[in-house]
Amino acid sequence: MAQEKQETDTIHVRGARVNNLQNISLDLPKKKITVFTGVSGSGKSSLVFDTLAAESQRLLNETLPTFVQTFLPRQPPPDVDALENLSAAIIVDQSRIGGNSRSTVGTVSDTAALLRLLFSRLGKPAVPRPSALSFNDPLGLCKACDGIGVVSSLDVKGLLDESKSLEEGALLFPGFAVDSWFYNIISGSGFFDLKKKIADYSADERHKLLHEPECKIKIKVGSKMMGSTYEGLIPKIRRLYLSKNLDDLQANLRNALEPILTREPCAECGGTRLNAAALACRVDDGAGHALNIAEASALAVDELLGVITREKSGFDNAATAPVRQALVRRLQSLVDIGLGYLSLDRESSTLSGASRSG
Ligand SMILES: [Zn+2]
Repeated sequence: MAQEKQETDTIHVRGARVNNLQNISLDLPKKKITVFTGVSGSGKSSLVFDTLAAESQRLLNETLPTFVQTFLPRQPPPDVDALENLSAAIIVDQSRIGGNSRSTVGTVSDTAALLRLLFSRLGKPAVPRPSALSFNDPLGLCKACDGIGVVSSLDVKGLLDESKSLEEGALLFPGFAVDSWFYNIISGSGFFDLKKKIADYSADERHKLLHEPECKIKIKVGSKMMGSTYEGLIPKIRRLYLSKNLDDLQANLRNALEPILTREPCAECGGTRLNAAALACRVDDGAGHALNIAEASALAVDELLGVITREKSGFDNAATAPVRQALVRRLQSLVDIGLGYLSLDRESSTLSGASRSG
């Protein structure tokens, strides 16, 4: 009996080979907290998430009616010789909630939409509709920074080795090496003398290489002419990589960008991401100031809650009472879980430094 009890108190893993695991065998005590540590890439996630949790999930799904199973993702069993005494697993991982800069505490908690609705109904001067107060909508966003609130500039020094010609490898950025696809577009464009050192370029040639906006060109591929699109280095890198969160880029791109990239708050919108019409729309806070939606979103949630619920403020209006109540409930629940210090404009990607890796 004791023997049996001991057996079921232990999860046996034999010969796990998922991803980079090399025939790993181990026993894990049940009903205990087990911590897996190790350097990034050592296989922690492969063992915990992709082997143990994956099989547990698969077994759990098999207990459901066939009809229900047809709606579930069909997973093959993980590559392992034996897994014994597994329990049902609940996976709580720490992957970031929405890594891009358009995702904020306000957008992920559904409070931003309610706040826009309130401002669009109560604010003066009036805006045509709630989306005119959104930095994720063409109607509301600041055109200068495209609703990001930050303008980034690239230091050209990191992109070029001016002492070299194009065919000597003057283009330093990853993906632009001699004979790469991007290089072939540049060299095949007919715009440049491939043997001329960048330092000797005329102002026009330099502009073409660095800043030329997208244009249609014909390039020679073998003996054939082919239609293609040419674009200067800076607009190209901006379009391909700077619109994304740096943390989501491949390491070689991130490492190339970090030393040459400077980001500054957008001067046009003061970092608020919104255009002038959106910023002009204000609601009286009941304490001698008329707030716009950017200022409201910059307040800590507990302060904002105080403003929204203040009697005699512009928000204290019977016509919009249900929206106000809904917003108050959401804000209160943020306060209740201890997040009252956050502001709605805080980017959600800054909330957790940890990510699932290994
Ligand atoms: Zn701006």
